[in-house]
Amino acid sequence: MANPSVTWTIGKQKNIALIAHDSMKPVIIEWCEKNKEILKEHFLYGTGTTARMITDRTGLPVRGHNSGPLGGDLQIGAKIVEGKIDFVIFFSDPLTAQPHDPDVKALLRIAQVYDIPIANNRATADFLIQSALMKEEYDHEVVDFKSAIAQRAQTL
Ligand code: PGA
Repeated sequence: MANPSVTWTIGKQKNIALIAHDSMKPVIIEWCEKNKEILKEHFLYGTGTTARMITDRTGLPVRGHNSGPLGGDLQIGAKIVEGKIDFVIFFSDPLTAQPHDPDVKALLRIAQVYDIPIANNRATADFLIQSALMKEEYDHEVVDFKSAIAQRAQTL
């Protein structure tokens, strides 16, 4: 049986998480600079080092969390669960082993569970940021965990 779902709305102003692995930090900074006028219209969050570097180099206000390897990716994931982050730009490095790979996987998985737009490379980020939906509200269906819990508690 399909999981019960509930409608969540991504507002006109998105809550955007910005994350980049070390080798990709210059890329995300340049991408933020290029898309500054659009990004200014939204609320920006990030893992610790990425957030600090973007703010220092572009002047965009990015609210930092812990550094990625110290739990920052998990904090972003938790905010997705709470409905406080609804859009993710994550320039991960596919060519370097990361000590926090399980956390990265957890973030990608939870973004998928909550139907979050997520870009893991520059081309996808370019397409997302240029989407007409950036200026509109967007309704989407996510699993209704409240009724899922109620149903599971009765049936398991
Ligand atoms: P950082 O974390 O922004 O603190 O470097 C990013 C990551 O490696 O996930």
